[in-house]
Amino acid sequence: MTTATRPTGHPGGRPAPGGGHPGGHPGAHPDAHPSGITGVGAVRAEGYVYDRAPMLVYWETTLACGLACRHCRATAQAERDPRELTTEEGYRLLDEVTRFGRPYPHVVFTGGDPLNRPDLHDLVRGATARGIGASLAPAATPLLTQDVMESLREAGIQNISLSLDGSDAERHDGFRMVPGTFDKTIQSARWARAAGLPIQVNTLVTDETLADLPAIYELLLGMDIMRWSLFMLITTGRGSALREVTPVESEKLNAWLFEKSRTAPFQVKTTEATHYRRLAIREMHAAGMDDEAILRTSVGRGFGIRDGNGIVFVAHDGTVNPSGFLPIPLGNVREASIVDLYRDHPVMRDLRNPEGFKGRCGACEYARVCGGSRARAWAWTGDPLEADPLCPYVPSGTAPQYGIASVATA
Ligand code: SF4
Repeated sequence: MTTATRPTGHPGGRPAPGGGHPGGHPGAHPDAHPSGITGVGAVRAEGYVYDRAPMLVYWETTLACGLACRHCRATAQAERDPRELTTEEGYRLLDEVTRFGRPYPHVVFTGGDPLNRPDLHDLVRGATARGIGASLAPAATPLLTQDVMESLREAGIQNISLSLDGSDAERHDGFRMVPGTFDKTIQSARWARAAGLPIQVNTLVTDETLADLPAIYELLLGMDIMRWSLFMLITTGRGSALREVTPVESEKLNAWLFEKSRTAPFQVKTTEATHYRRLAIREMHAAGMDDEAILRTSVGRGFGIRDGNGIVFVAHDGTVNPSGFLPIPLGNVREASIVDLYRDHPVMRDLRNPEGFKGRCGACEYARVCGGSRARAWAWTGDPLEADPLCPYVPSGTAPQYGIASVATA
């Protein structure tokens, strides 16, 4: 088995959508259809077969950003990097994305702050002209105006993500390191709605933000959003200065989130906490739902998606990684096809094969629908196939074998 390891082992807990974790899978509404509770069918989102194509391509268009977030995955900087893909190279990347075949993956324009690219509208129009859906993960800075949102929607942006890491200005701005960012975010959400752009709010979960999450939830109830995505910190980039929650806290949080999801006027999802799916399956089974019904829920439609499986990331300089939080270099779109790298790179093949996972994830009956955060496994151990250290679940081998838990994802 081919396994990528981090060049320098590092201990310890660490975590970030950071500069861009638009997280989430926009518009996903898979026709998941297992061939019964025996679990031999396939879960796939709206025709996506993750061995062949991702649902989401995250493109870090630039590192430049006006904020200096403490948890930034991209370790963004004030100025653009001369190694960024050019406009023409961007078009070629979009051409390559269509080679995955239909349904085309959705492209998330992220950064840094993609609004720092003067050709952003052209690139979005380029995606739209090719039939590729597009989302935007901007930073809440003076570059984000109502006019920009409206013109980007006209260019083809279908939804927008905004980050909110605190329920008030003191808490949020403390993370973003720029006063006024909280107010700007709230104002941007209003503008996005006025422009007709559905909103995903991304919230970072660390030991610092955990206690504030109920207040953030209350705030979101009044913001008319489409989705709340909670990103469980992984210690990469600037996020390494922060601390993850504990496995017990994570499990309690997942239970609270599932309870809120029953009545929330928006979808609730987690990023880099795929074990939320295990808890959700258990709760939905307990409520009498069968596998077919579970697969039709917003949680069910995300089954199987994790680093390198349904997701791929293109860094500002064209380097391809399994995800933004799993920065193992697979190749560069300047020299190789993203299609070939996604489908055939040995690291990607390993990441898509739960039978090769180690430890608890390797023994877990939920491995195909969950599979754990490969990014966190890598961050903690240097091995992306190791168990996700944030998940407290201990597969017993005698646990009920839920049919849905063993459904294949390809
Ligand atoms: S042990 Fe691994 S695969 Fe099983 S629920 Fe936890 S994170 Fe998911």
